[in-house]
Order: sequence, then C-alpha cells, then structure tokens
Amino acid sequence: MTDELQIAIVGAGIGGLTAALALRARGLSVTVFERAASPRELGAGISIHPNAVRLLRRIGLHDWLENINTRSVGLSLWTSRGEPVLRPPASPDSPTYQVHRVELLEMLNDSQADVLVRFGHNCTGVKETEDDVRLTFANGVTARADVVIGADGIHSVVQREIGLVTHPTSEGIMAYRGLIPSERLSWAKDLRGLKMWMGSGRSFICFPISQGRVINIVAFVPSNLESEESWSAPGDLKALAAEYDGWDAPVVEAIGALDETFRWGIYDRAPLPYWSTARVTLLGDAAHPMVPHFGQGAGQAIEDGFALAILLEDAKPADVPARLKAYERLRLGHTSRVQAASRDAGRFYRSENEDAAERSLRMDKWMSAAGWIFQYDVEQEATALL
Ligand SMILES: Cc1cc2nc3c(=O)[nH]c(=O)nc-3n(C[C@H](O)[C@H](O)[C@H](O)COP(=O)(O)OP(=O)(O)OC[C@H]3O[C@@H](n4cnc5c(N)ncnc54)[C@H](O)[C@@H]3O)c2cc1C
Repeated sequence: MTDELQIAIVGAGIGGLTAALALRARGLSVTVFERAASPRELGAGISIHPNAVRLLRRIGLHDWLENINTRSVGLSLWTSRGEPVLRPPASPDSPTYQVHRVELLEMLNDSQADVLVRFGHNCTGVKETEDDVRLTFANGVTARADVVIGADGIHSVVQREIGLVTHPTSEGIMAYRGLIPSERLSWAKDLRGLKMWMGSGRSFICFPISQGRVINIVAFVPSNLESEESWSAPGDLKALAAEYDGWDAPVVEAIGALDETFRWGIYDRAPLPYWSTARVTLLGDAAHPMVPHFGQGAGQAIEDGFALAILLEDAKPADVPARLKAYERLRLGHTSRVQAASRDAGRFYRSENEDAAERSLRMDKWMSAAGWIFQYDVEQEATALL
C-alpha cells in the first residue's frame, strides 16, 4: 500500500466536481463516481457569490467566469407594486456571477483533466474497514479508497451509510422556475444584475444568464402541497400568473413571456449531528441542504471541497480521521448558520410589510451584516487549523 491517499467522491454535481478540481490542484489522487449514465444535466440559472467565485478563480477558472459575461452588476430590490427598495453598490473586486447550471457543469466536467469521472456508477454501499473504505455500485463494480466524500445530494446514500437518519423540513414554499429569451422582454435588453420584487407571502427574482441571451426567473409562492423534497414537475402558467396578479408590470410581463415553468418543492434539513466517521465524510447538499434565498447552496458546497483539499493535502492514511474531524468542526457550524440565515432571508422577503422605506432600512442593515457569508475565505480558515 502506498502513502498516497486515494480519494473517492460519490456524486458529480457542482459540489463533487469542484471538490475533485480543488483536490487535484493540491496533487491528490481522485476518482468521482456518478450514477447518471452521462454528464446530462437539467436546471436553470444560479448565482455564484464572491465567497465561491474567489475559490474558482484560484484554480484557474477565472477566464471561464469572465467569458460567460454575466458578471452581475448589482442588485435592485422592489416592492410588489414597483416602488424601489434598495440598490446596494456593486463591488467590482468581489463580483457575483450568474450562470446557467448546465453550462457550469459542462465546464466543470471539461476541466477534469487528471480526474477519472466514472458515470453509470450508482453507489449502493459504503463500508469502512480497519484502514480503508469499500464502495459497492448497482452495476456490480466495487472500489476501495482511503477517503470517501459523499457529494451525492439531498437524498445522500453515503449519509445513510454513515448511520444518519434525517427528515426533510418543508419551507411551505414552492419555486416556479423558468427561462425566457431576453429579446422577448421590453425591459431586459441591458439587464446585468439581479432584480427582486418582494411582497406579502411571495417574492420574484430574475437575472440574465448565458451572456445575457436568457433571463432566468424564480417565483417563490406559498404552498401546502406535500411533495418529495426538491422534486420538480411541470408547473401551470395560469396558476403562476394568478399568484402575481396586480404585481409590478415587469413581473406580469415576464410570466406572460414564459413558454413553460417547472415547480420545485423547497426544503432543507436540520443540521446533522456529525458529518464524518474515520474515513468517510459529506459535502454540499448531502451535508447541509438549504433554502435558496441567499443563493448559497452551491457556494457552500464549493467551500466544502476547498476546505477538504487544504486539510487532506499532505495527510497520510493514518492522519485521515483527525483531518476529517477538523473539516467537520470547521464547516458544520458555519453552514448551519448559513442554513438559518437563508430561512430568515426568505421570511423577510415575503413579509407582510409593503412600506418601501422601512423595507429599505431593514434590508440595508441586514445586507451589511451578511459580510460573514460573502467575505468568508474558507482556505484561510482551513489553513489556520493545520
Ligand atoms: C430553486 C433553487 C434555486 C437555487 N439557486 C441557487 C443559487 O442561486 N446559488 C447557489 O449557490 N445554489 C442555489 N441552489 C442550490 C444548489 O442548486 C444546490 O445546493 C447544489 O446544486 C448542490 O450541489 P451538490 O453537488 O451538493 O448536490 P447535487 O447537485 O444534488 O449533486 C449530487 C450528484 O450526486 C449524484 N448522485 C446521487 N446519488 C448518487 C449515488 N447513489 N451514486 C452516485 N451518484 C449519485 C447525482 O446524480 C448528482 O449528480 C438553488 C436550489 C434551488 C432548488
């Protein structure tokens, strides 16, 4: 047996693929196992905020981020009736990028030069022995590793395999998502930043992706529908329009311009009691699914992978249990606070108060306090633990 760590990642989503790149960038040997037969992804737009952007830049993805040309230039907030709430200044040094999830995953897959990504591998079992871990897959393949990272999303098999039993918590909210060619909207031609309307019980956001050619919309509405968490199903455009009847004209126009919409049940889970055993740990939605009102689900998954890369860089197999515990100590508390803040954000956006001046004051205070999420540098924090 060599001293070089063999790392297996289960799941080739945003979290698993960025972890693979971060670990490779520090010279570690990584294999990713993904249950999907090929890198086919669905999804719409997501925001990647400065806390994750700075990490992607450090592993050479700066050009890709710049070339997609949907660097967000600011955020503007409105009441449901169209009164301006706040336009916080954009920071050119700490940009947010708005990306199409499919384009981001394609780029992450294309960047895996030295990482073996094995598609068609549905992990069904993870068993730790005295000094390694054995993985089994539905196709009959088995594999061994010194470290296993479960990046297999909200219904994580790896989480179950390390003895955790968790229950989803519904936010009582459904998200309707949709994509609109930007030329269809009278107000979208020069849109570069994110616009959000906030009203009683509902919020509505839109931002450009795919170099401004497409406008991504997400409409958050109350729902008591029992659903599989994070399930997605075709939505009814008439029902969506009825939810926003009487809202500001751009919202009504955007809904009228949709060809189709998909509904997502919005769930999170209470923070886990632990993430790591001796040689197995979790990252991303497998560890800390969160409601999307801070746009931090993927961002926190990216931070997790970079923390692991620092902590495992020079580790020998015997060091692994202590390093995984250090990772858990660093990340579990921080991501639990982001989970709670994300819920609070949603409650605030959808609160009854329609007074623009008061919303503006509260929003300003609240955003100034959110620096602990956006300015957080996980590599500095992880390095300080060594
Ligand atoms: C409406 C909405 C809007 C959002 N907006 C944002 C946003 O603006 N910004 C942001 O940062 N986040 C956002 N998110 C959250 C973000 O999409 C997720 O947090 C992120 O995708 C989680 O990544 P992940 O890699 O941990 O998990 P996933 O993306 O779920 O990836 C898990 C991978 O594991 C694979 N897998 C599962 N089980 C197995 C198995 N047994 N064996 C092998 N492979 C397996 C899956 O096929 C998948 O490829 C949003 C979410 C929603 C619902």
